[in-house]
Amino acid sequence: MTKTKIDVTLSATRKEKPKSDQLEFGRVFTDHMFVMDYSPAKGWHDPKIVPYEPITLSPASMVFHYGQTVFEGLKAYRTKEDKVLLFRPEKNMERLNLSNDRLCIPRIDGEFVIEALKQLVSIEKDWIPTAEGTSLYIRPFIIPTEYYLGVAPSKFYRFMIILSPVGSYYKEGIHPVKIYVENHYVRAVEGGTGKAKTGGNYASSLRAQEEAAQKGYSQVLWLDGVEKKYIEEVGSMNIFFKINGEVVTPEVNGSILEGVTRKSILELLKSWETPVSERKISMEEVYQAYKDGQLEEAFGTGTAAVISPIGEFLYDDNKIVINNGETGELSKKLYDTLTGIQKGTKQDPFNWVTEVK
Ligand SMILES: *Cc1c(COP(=O)(O)O)cnc(C)c1O
Repeated sequence: MTKTKIDVTLSATRKEKPKSDQLEFGRVFTDHMFVMDYSPAKGWHDPKIVPYEPITLSPASMVFHYGQTVFEGLKAYRTKEDKVLLFRPEKNMERLNLSNDRLCIPRIDGEFVIEALKQLVSIEKDWIPTAEGTSLYIRPFIIPTEYYLGVAPSKFYRFMIILSPVGSYYKEGIHPVKIYVENHYVRAVEGGTGKAKTGGNYASSLRAQEEAAQKGYSQVLWLDGVEKKYIEEVGSMNIFFKINGEVVTPEVNGSILEGVTRKSILELLKSWETPVSERKISMEEVYQAYKDGQLEEAFGTGTAAVISPIGEFLYDDNKIVINNGETGELSKKLYDTLTGIQKGTKQDPFNWVTEVK
Protein backbone atom coordinates (compact mmCIF):
# COMPACT_ATOMS: atom_id res chain seq x y z
CA MET A 1 0.00 0.00 0.00
CA THR A 2 2.75 2.45 0.98
CA LYS A 3 4.19 2.34 -2.55
CA THR A 4 0.85 3.10 -4.22
CA LYS A 5 0.92 6.14 -6.44
CA ILE A 6 -1.62 8.86 -5.77
CA ASP A 7 -3.34 10.06 -8.91
CA VAL A 8 -3.65 13.87 -9.03
CA THR A 9 -6.24 15.80 -11.05
CA LEU A 10 -5.93 19.54 -10.55
CA SER A 11 -8.95 21.80 -10.64
CA ALA A 12 -9.33 23.97 -13.74
CA THR A 13 -10.52 26.86 -11.59
CA ARG A 14 -9.54 28.27 -8.20
CA LYS A 15 -11.99 29.59 -5.64
CA GLU A 16 -11.53 32.97 -4.02
CA LYS A 17 -9.88 32.64 -0.62
CA PRO A 18 -11.58 34.23 2.39
CA LYS A 19 -9.92 37.16 4.16
CA SER A 20 -8.11 36.01 7.28
CA ASP A 21 -10.25 38.18 9.59
CA GLN A 22 -13.45 36.66 8.17
CA LEU A 23 -12.63 33.01 8.75
CA GLU A 24 -15.12 30.88 10.63
CA PHE A 25 -14.79 27.25 11.67
CA GLY A 26 -15.48 24.74 8.91
CA ARG A 27 -17.53 26.80 6.45
CA VAL A 28 -15.15 27.20 3.52
CA PHE A 29 -13.30 24.37 1.77
CA THR A 30 -10.22 24.37 -0.43
CA ASP A 31 -9.99 23.49 -4.15
CA HIS A 32 -9.02 19.81 -3.79
CA MET A 33 -9.74 16.73 -1.70
CA PHE A 34 -8.30 13.25 -1.20
CA VAL A 35 -10.45 10.20 -1.98
CA MET A 36 -9.80 6.46 -1.64
CA ASP A 37 -12.24 3.55 -1.85
CA TYR A 38 -12.50 0.16 -0.20
CA SER A 39 -13.93 -3.04 -1.58
CA PRO A 40 -13.55 -6.59 -0.24
CA ALA A 41 -11.79 -7.66 -3.45
CA LYS A 42 -9.30 -4.78 -3.71
CA GLY A 43 -8.96 -3.51 -0.12
CA TRP A 44 -8.24 0.23 0.04
CA HIS A 45 -7.55 1.23 -3.55
CA ASP A 46 -7.56 4.01 -6.12
CA PRO A 47 -6.16 6.82 -3.93
CA LYS A 48 -6.48 10.15 -5.65
CA ILE A 49 -6.47 13.91 -5.22
CA VAL A 50 -9.30 15.49 -7.20
CA PRO A 51 -11.11 18.84 -7.37
CA TYR A 52 -13.34 19.45 -4.34
CA GLU A 53 -16.89 18.72 -5.44
CA PRO A 54 -20.15 17.10 -4.28
CA ILE A 55 -20.34 13.31 -4.37
CA THR A 56 -23.26 11.21 -5.61
CA LEU A 57 -24.65 8.31 -3.57
CA SER A 58 -27.78 6.17 -3.74
CA PRO A 59 -30.41 7.02 -1.11
CA ALA A 60 -29.92 3.42 0.03
CA SER A 61 -26.25 4.04 0.73
CA MET A 62 -25.60 2.83 4.27
CA VAL A 63 -24.14 6.16 5.37
CA PHE A 64 -27.67 7.63 5.42
CA HIS A 65 -29.11 5.02 7.76
CA TYR A 66 -27.16 3.51 10.63
CA GLY A 67 -24.33 5.91 11.36
CA GLN A 68 -21.32 3.68 10.67
CA THR A 69 -18.94 6.62 10.30
CA VAL A 70 -15.61 7.74 11.76
CA PHE A 71 -13.61 10.95 11.49
CA GLU A 72 -10.51 12.79 12.64
CA GLY A 73 -9.54 16.42 13.11
CA LEU A 74 -6.06 17.97 12.98
CA LYS A 75 -4.44 21.17 11.74
CA ALA A 76 -1.69 22.44 9.44
CA TYR A 77 0.10 25.69 10.32
CA ARG A 78 2.20 28.01 8.14
CA THR A 79 5.23 29.49 9.89
CA LYS A 80 6.81 32.93 9.47
CA GLU A 81 9.48 31.24 7.32
CA ASP A 82 6.70 29.85 5.11
CA LYS A 83 7.15 26.28 6.28
CA VAL A 84 4.06 24.08 6.66
CA LEU A 85 3.80 22.06 9.87
CA LEU A 86 1.52 19.24 11.03
CA PHE A 87 1.09 18.41 14.72
CA ARG A 88 1.45 14.68 15.61
CA PRO A 89 -0.53 13.37 12.60
CA GLU A 90 0.50 9.78 13.40
CA LYS A 91 -1.54 10.01 16.62
CA ASN A 92 -4.65 10.90 14.62
CA MET A 93 -4.06 7.91 12.31
CA GLU A 94 -3.65 5.54 15.27
CA ARG A 95 -6.90 6.85 16.74
CA LEU A 96 -8.68 6.60 13.38
CA ASN A 97 -7.80 2.91 13.31
CA LEU A 98 -9.08 2.43 16.88
CA SER A 99 -12.34 4.07 15.80
CA ASN A 100 -12.37 1.83 12.71
CA ASP A 101 -11.99 -1.28 14.87
CA ARG A 102 -14.91 -0.24 17.06
CA LEU A 103 -17.16 0.54 14.06
CA CYS A 104 -16.19 -2.59 12.04
CA ILE A 105 -14.52 -0.47 9.35
CA PRO A 106 -11.35 -1.84 7.71
CA ARG A 107 -8.13 -0.27 8.99
CA ILE A 108 -6.24 2.24 6.89
CA ASP A 109 -2.45 2.39 6.40
CA GLY A 110 -1.66 5.40 8.60
CA GLU A 111 1.76 6.08 7.07
CA PHE A 112 0.35 6.07 3.56
CA VAL A 113 -2.52 8.36 4.54
CA ILE A 114 -0.08 10.83 6.12
CA GLU A 115 1.88 10.88 2.83
CA ALA A 116 -1.37 11.53 0.94
CA LEU A 117 -2.34 14.20 3.44
CA LYS A 118 1.02 15.94 3.04
CA GLN A 119 0.64 15.90 -0.74
CA LEU A 120 -2.85 17.40 -0.49
CA VAL A 121 -1.79 20.07 2.02
CA SER A 122 1.20 20.93 -0.15
CA ILE A 123 -1.08 21.45 -3.20
CA GLU A 124 -3.32 23.67 -1.04
CA LYS A 125 -0.48 25.53 0.68
CA ASP A 126 -1.77 28.95 -0.40
CA TRP A 127 -5.00 28.24 1.51
CA ILE A 128 -3.20 28.07 4.86
CA PRO A 129 -3.86 31.39 6.60
CA THR A 130 -0.96 32.97 8.48
CA ALA A 131 -2.63 35.48 10.83
CA GLU A 132 -2.33 34.89 14.59
CA GLY A 133 -4.51 31.97 15.69
CA THR A 134 -5.48 30.83 12.18
CA SER A 135 -4.71 27.46 10.57
CA LEU A 136 -5.88 24.91 8.02
CA TYR A 137 -8.26 22.41 9.62
CA ILE A 138 -7.93 18.89 8.21
CA ARG A 139 -10.91 16.55 8.30
CA PRO A 140 -10.25 12.91 7.35
CA PHE A 141 -13.38 10.72 7.48
CA ILE A 142 -14.75 7.37 6.36
CA ILE A 143 -18.28 6.58 5.25
CA PRO A 144 -19.95 3.25 4.36
CA THR A 145 -21.06 3.25 0.72
CA GLU A 146 -22.79 -0.10 0.16
CA TYR A 147 -26.41 0.16 -1.03
CA TYR A 148 -28.23 -1.99 1.50
CA LEU A 149 -30.82 -1.45 4.23
CA GLY A 150 -29.83 -4.44 6.36
CA VAL A 151 -28.10 -3.72 9.66
CA ALA A 152 -24.59 -5.05 9.11
CA PRO A 153 -21.13 -3.63 8.49
CA SER A 154 -20.93 -2.19 4.98
CA LYS A 155 -18.83 -4.11 2.47
CA PHE A 156 -17.73 -0.90 0.70
CA TYR A 157 -16.29 2.37 2.09
CA ARG A 158 -15.00 5.74 1.01
CA PHE A 159 -12.19 7.55 2.82
CA MET A 160 -11.91 11.28 2.19
CA ILE A 161 -9.86 14.23 3.43
CA ILE A 162 -11.20 17.75 3.10
CA LEU A 163 -9.50 20.97 4.21
CA SER A 164 -10.91 24.17 5.65
CA PRO A 165 -9.06 27.40 6.53
CA VAL A 166 -10.17 28.34 10.05
CA GLY A 167 -9.96 31.49 12.11
CA SER A 168 -8.78 32.15 15.58
CA TYR A 169 -11.05 30.26 17.98
CA TYR A 170 -11.16 33.32 20.21
CA LYS A 171 -11.31 36.67 18.47
CA GLU A 172 -9.51 38.52 21.29
CA GLY A 173 -7.03 35.86 22.41
CA ILE A 174 -8.03 33.04 24.77
CA HIS A 175 -10.90 33.76 27.10
CA PRO A 176 -12.79 31.62 29.61
CA VAL A 177 -16.04 29.82 28.75
CA LYS A 178 -19.06 28.96 30.89
CA ILE A 179 -19.90 25.27 31.20
CA TYR A 180 -23.16 23.55 32.20
CA VAL A 181 -22.69 20.36 34.24
CA GLU A 182 -25.14 17.96 32.57
CA ASN A 183 -27.19 16.04 35.14
CA HIS A 184 -29.80 14.42 32.89
CA TYR A 185 -28.40 13.41 29.49
CA VAL A 186 -25.31 11.22 29.17
CA ARG A 187 -22.76 10.96 26.36
CA ALA A 188 -21.31 7.47 26.64
CA VAL A 189 -20.84 4.42 28.81
CA GLU A 190 -18.00 1.93 29.02
CA GLY A 191 -18.56 -0.66 26.32
CA GLY A 192 -20.31 1.92 24.12
CA THR A 193 -18.71 4.09 21.44
CA GLY A 194 -17.47 6.98 23.61
CA LYS A 195 -13.81 6.34 22.90
CA ALA A 196 -14.34 6.32 19.11
CA LYS A 197 -14.62 9.47 17.00
CA THR A 198 -17.89 8.42 15.41
CA GLY A 199 -20.81 10.57 14.27
CA GLY A 200 -23.41 9.05 16.59
CA ASN A 201 -21.67 10.40 19.69
CA TYR A 202 -22.17 13.93 18.38
CA ALA A 203 -25.75 13.36 17.21
CA SER A 204 -26.68 12.22 20.70
CA SER A 205 -25.00 15.24 22.31
CA LEU A 206 -26.97 17.91 20.42
CA ARG A 207 -30.06 18.00 22.67
CA ALA A 208 -28.01 18.66 25.81
CA GLN A 209 -25.89 21.22 23.97
CA GLU A 210 -29.02 23.09 22.82
CA GLU A 211 -30.51 23.19 26.30
CA ALA A 212 -27.24 24.38 27.86
CA ALA A 213 -27.00 27.14 25.22
CA GLN A 214 -30.52 28.30 26.08
CA LYS A 215 -29.38 28.69 29.68
CA GLY A 216 -26.41 30.79 28.55
CA TYR A 217 -23.71 28.11 28.76
CA SER A 218 -21.44 27.45 25.81
CA GLN A 219 -20.81 23.71 26.35
CA VAL A 220 -21.81 20.82 28.60
CA LEU A 221 -19.65 18.87 30.99
CA TRP A 222 -20.52 15.18 30.73
CA LEU A 223 -20.64 12.99 33.80
CA ASP A 224 -20.28 9.20 33.71
CA GLY A 225 -23.27 7.42 32.21
CA VAL A 226 -23.85 5.05 35.13
CA GLU A 227 -23.85 7.11 38.35
CA LYS A 228 -23.66 10.65 36.86
CA LYS A 229 -21.02 11.29 39.44
CA TYR A 230 -17.57 11.17 37.83
CA ILE A 231 -16.34 13.74 35.32
CA GLU A 232 -15.82 12.60 31.74
CA GLU A 233 -15.21 15.45 29.27
CA VAL A 234 -16.61 18.64 27.74
CA GLY A 235 -18.29 18.80 24.31
CA SER A 236 -15.40 17.96 22.01
CA MET A 237 -12.68 18.59 24.57
CA ASN A 238 -11.00 16.69 27.38
CA ILE A 239 -10.91 18.44 30.75
CA PHE A 240 -8.27 19.32 33.33
CA PHE A 241 -8.48 20.83 36.83
CA LYS A 242 -5.79 22.42 38.97
CA ILE A 243 -6.60 21.72 42.59
CA ASN A 244 -4.26 22.85 45.35
CA GLY A 245 -1.24 22.78 43.03
CA GLU A 246 -1.99 19.40 41.44
CA VAL A 247 -3.29 19.00 37.90
CA VAL A 248 -5.96 16.31 37.56
CA THR A 249 -7.65 14.91 34.45
CA PRO A 250 -10.09 11.98 34.22
CA GLU A 251 -8.31 8.72 33.38
CA VAL A 252 -8.93 7.02 30.05
CA ASN A 253 -11.77 4.71 31.04
CA GLY A 254 -13.28 3.32 27.84
CA SER A 255 -15.92 6.02 27.48
CA ILE A 256 -13.96 9.26 27.04
CA LEU A 257 -12.26 10.24 23.79
CA GLU A 258 -8.49 10.19 24.23
CA GLY A 259 -7.40 13.54 22.80
CA VAL A 260 -4.04 14.17 21.15
CA THR A 261 -4.05 17.56 22.90
CA ARG A 262 -4.76 15.85 26.25
CA LYS A 263 -1.83 13.48 25.73
CA SER A 264 0.47 16.38 24.75
CA ILE A 265 -0.55 18.46 27.80
CA LEU A 266 0.20 15.51 30.08
CA GLU A 267 3.63 15.08 28.50
CA LEU A 268 4.36 18.82 28.79
CA LEU A 269 3.31 18.96 32.46
CA LYS A 270 5.45 15.92 33.29
CA SER A 271 8.44 17.54 31.57
CA TRP A 272 7.88 20.65 33.73
CA GLU A 273 7.69 18.43 36.81
CA THR A 274 4.24 19.82 37.60
CA PRO A 275 2.32 17.36 39.81
CA VAL A 276 -0.26 15.72 37.54
CA SER A 277 -2.52 12.70 37.81
CA GLU A 278 -4.93 10.79 35.61
CA ARG A 279 -7.63 9.42 37.85
CA LYS A 280 -11.34 9.27 38.55
CA ILE A 281 -12.56 12.65 39.75
CA SER A 282 -16.12 13.36 40.84
CA MET A 283 -18.01 16.61 40.42
CA GLU A 284 -18.58 16.54 44.18
CA GLU A 285 -14.79 16.60 44.70
CA VAL A 286 -14.45 19.60 42.38
CA TYR A 287 -17.29 21.39 44.20
CA GLN A 288 -15.70 20.66 47.58
CA ALA A 289 -12.32 21.93 46.34
CA TYR A 290 -14.08 25.11 45.18
CA LYS A 291 -15.73 25.58 48.60
CA ASP A 292 -12.36 25.02 50.27
CA GLY A 293 -10.76 27.66 48.02
CA GLN A 294 -8.50 25.04 46.38
CA LEU A 295 -9.94 24.97 42.86
CA GLU A 296 -7.35 27.09 41.08
CA GLU A 297 -8.01 26.50 37.38
CA ALA A 298 -10.04 24.41 34.95
CA PHE A 299 -9.57 24.10 31.19
CA GLY A 300 -10.66 22.05 28.22
CA THR A 301 -8.20 20.68 25.62
CA GLY A 302 -8.81 19.85 21.95
CA THR A 303 -7.51 20.52 18.46
CA ALA A 304 -10.00 23.31 17.67
CA ALA A 305 -9.32 25.67 20.61
CA VAL A 306 -6.12 23.96 21.88
CA ILE A 307 -6.71 25.20 25.47
CA SER A 308 -10.06 26.59 26.53
CA PRO A 309 -10.03 28.07 30.03
CA ILE A 310 -13.21 27.53 32.04
CA GLY A 311 -14.46 30.53 34.00
CA GLU A 312 -17.66 29.07 35.44
CA PHE A 313 -19.59 25.83 35.96
CA LEU A 314 -23.28 25.58 36.73
CA TYR A 315 -23.57 22.45 38.89
CA ASP A 316 -27.21 21.75 39.81
CA ASP A 317 -28.08 25.22 41.13
CA ASN A 318 -24.59 26.13 42.25
CA LYS A 319 -22.40 28.55 40.36
CA ILE A 320 -18.73 27.66 40.58
CA VAL A 321 -16.66 30.66 39.49
CA ILE A 322 -13.01 29.88 38.90
CA ASN A 323 -10.17 32.39 39.19
CA ASN A 324 -12.71 35.28 39.06
CA GLY A 325 -13.72 34.09 35.58
CA GLU A 326 -10.27 34.92 34.24
CA THR A 327 -7.69 32.81 32.40
CA GLY A 328 -5.37 31.08 34.86
CA GLU A 329 -1.59 31.27 34.72
CA LEU A 330 -1.08 27.58 33.92
CA SER A 331 -3.79 27.59 31.22
CA LYS A 332 -2.07 30.55 29.55
CA LYS A 333 1.38 28.99 29.78
CA LEU A 334 0.13 25.71 28.30
CA TYR A 335 -1.66 27.57 25.50
CA ASP A 336 1.41 29.67 24.64
CA THR A 337 3.74 26.67 24.73
CA LEU A 338 1.58 24.31 22.69
CA THR A 339 0.56 26.86 20.05
CA GLY A 340 4.19 28.02 19.89
CA ILE A 341 5.36 24.46 19.14
CA GLN A 342 2.56 24.00 16.60
CA LYS A 343 3.45 27.21 14.75
CA GLY A 344 7.19 26.70 14.95
CA THR A 345 7.89 29.77 17.12
CA LYS A 346 8.90 27.63 20.12
CA GLN A 347 11.34 24.73 20.37
CA ASP A 348 9.88 21.29 19.80
CA PRO A 349 11.82 19.07 22.24
CA PHE A 350 9.39 16.16 21.77
CA ASN A 351 9.56 16.08 17.95
CA TRP A 352 5.81 16.54 17.73
CA VAL A 353 5.87 18.62 14.59
CA THR A 354 6.24 17.20 11.05
CA GLU A 355 7.15 19.45 8.15
CA VAL A 356 5.22 19.21 4.87
CA LYS A 357 7.75 19.66 2.05
C1 LIG B 1 -11.80 15.17 19.12
C2 LIG B 1 -12.34 15.13 20.51
C3 LIG B 1 -11.57 15.50 21.63
C4 LIG B 1 -10.22 16.15 21.52
O1 LIG B 1 -9.29 15.41 20.83
P1 LIG B 1 -8.00 16.13 20.20
O2 LIG B 1 -7.27 15.01 19.56
O3 LIG B 1 -7.26 16.75 21.31
O4 LIG B 1 -8.52 17.12 19.23
C5 LIG B 1 -12.12 15.32 22.89
N1 LIG B 1 -13.36 14.84 23.06
C6 LIG B 1 -14.13 14.50 22.00
C7 LIG B 1 -15.49 13.96 22.26
C8 LIG B 1 -13.65 14.65 20.70
O5 LIG B 1 -14.41 14.34 19.66
